[in-house]
Amino acid sequence: MKRITVLGVTGSIGTQTVDVVVHHRDEFEIVAMSAGRNIQLLEEIMQTVNVHHICVQNKEDKDYLAKKYPNIHFYHGQEGLMEIATLPNVDIVLNAIVGFAGLLPTMEAIKAHKDIALANKETLVVAGHLIIPLVKEYGVALLPVDSEHSAIFQSMNGENHQDIAKIILTASGGSFRDKSRDELANVTVEQALKHPNWSMGAKITIDSATLFNKGLEVMEAKWLFDVDYDDIEVLIHPESIVHSMVEYQDTSVIAQLGTPDMRLPIQYALTYPRRQPLINGKRLSLADVGSLHFYKPDLKRFHALALAYEAGRTGGSMPCVLNAANEQANSLFLNRKICFLDIEKLVEEAMRAHQVVDNPSLDQLLEIDQWARKFVFERVGED
Ligand code: NAD
Ligand code: MG
Repeated sequence: MKRITVLGVTGSIGTQTVDVVVHHRDEFEIVAMSAGRNIQLLEEIMQTVNVHHICVQNKEDKDYLAKKYPNIHFYHGQEGLMEIATLPNVDIVLNAIVGFAGLLPTMEAIKAHKDIALANKETLVVAGHLIIPLVKEYGVALLPVDSEHSAIFQSMNGENHQDIAKIILTASGGSFRDKSRDELANVTVEQALKHPNWSMGAKITIDSATLFNKGLEVMEAKWLFDVDYDDIEVLIHPESIVHSMVEYQDTSVIAQLGTPDMRLPIQYALTYPRRQPLINGKRLSLADVGSLHFYKPDLKRFHALALAYEAGRTGGSMPCVLNAANEQANSLFLNRKICFLDIEKLVEEAMRAHQVVDNPSLDQLLEIDQWARKFVFERVGED
């Protein structure tokens, strides 16, 4: 029996994790879970799974719940997240919080010797240089939940690291895959939120449309698989069937394929190295799909991807600036304060204004994250 803490249980990944767990009750148990502010959904999830430790974002919500459910331990805020990520009877922490907020609980969980199933890519983007050594020091497993990284992980099973030639990260291209740069100027939030292949949280759906998501994934891949940026290629693949590939020195290319369903990478991170049937999973019929398409992204049109490669290659604190500026700009776009192309413009401005710190400490990252958010916020105020 694997005992799990699910961080961000009310989100897209969180609810799909609950779905995986309830279909394998003899294999998994959710011991603790966290939610942000969606208390109604949290209470629905509490009807499905019997969990004794629950963290919410606000103290008022915690007090309300503690009164209503006296037999459950409630926690709140960042402190609470760290407590439920380090409970002694937990084996693995599945981190499905969105954004920089996922960083501290991941670090604390590793230090408490918990394995990590990581959906929260932002933590590796910002602090890969701190997380990876910590994973090695504490001898825990870091298992990818992101579909592309799960595909790469599966394509590397049993292989030797020195035999890898490159990673080929596939991208659906997001909601605006077929739009020209001019057309992108006037797109709306509603259009951006309509992803062609995946149903996900709002932030990552916007990130998929800008291609910042793919940029974050390039950095995530660098840290997870210890490869150079020159050896990570992005390929647009509109069908989202080939979830990513690894090319080896002997020219062999190994890929993982499947119908788009995030429950598969979630489940694989929990069952690894074994596999289990995916309940209600749709099998892939290549005969029905017929043809698959691949083409190189235009880095002029998808400027965000170029910025992400630049931030990754620069290293140090630059990925933190890109991430924080993007989180802020993404949210301003969702709140209709800026237009779509302003997102990458503001991120670039923050990057240009930043003096890179090599090998930043956690405290420096917290400070730089705040600086970049404020920078973007104030730039918008000035316009
Ligand atoms: P989401 O917005 O649907 O859910 C986020 C969860 O985190 C919610 O439970 C929310 O309440 C909680 N949360 C948000 N801000 C918080 C904060 N400051 N403190 C504590 N909790 C907070 O997001 P999602 O789409 O499920 O994505 C979660 C993570 O997984 C992201 O890092 C995303 O990039 C990654 N991911 C998602 C998908 C997907 O299909 N949704 C695929 C790959 C990777
Ligand atoms: Mg992905």
